[in-house]
Amino acid sequence: MKQIQQLYHFTCDHGHTGISQTGVLLPRAQPFMHTLGPLLWLTDYKEPTKESVGLTSSWTTCDRLAYRYIVRCKAVHWFEIRQRAPKEIVAELEAFGQAEHWWVVRRPVTASEFSFDENYRREVPA
Ligand SMILES: [Zn+2]
Repeated sequence: MKQIQQLYHFTCDHGHTGISQTGVLLPRAQPFMHTLGPLLWLTDYKEPTKESVGLTSSWTTCDRLAYRYIVRCKAVHWFEIRQRAPKEIVAELEAFGQAEHWWVVRRPVTASEFSFDENYRREVPA
């Protein structure tokens, strides 16, 4: 099922810098799920926690929720493609988040399809 709805892409300082320079959101290779090809991860959660989107600090030292982009394009729900990835990897990934809120796009998302959300400020617990 593909549908157009408002989705969000979150990224860290590094990702934000790259997006500012290139003007596109690029899918990235998934080292543990190469059978899926490069994926751009999106969520329908407006203000996700690291847990809900499966980004725990053990994966990276970056704050991957530092910047928010609003994306409007066709996306594929994670549940539509996950069967193409290794079962154990999928189970592990989903154990750390709420997979029903995960969406992916498998091509670059161009400038007309997304916007940087300047109003977004992440609430970081003190
Ligand atoms: Zn980073």
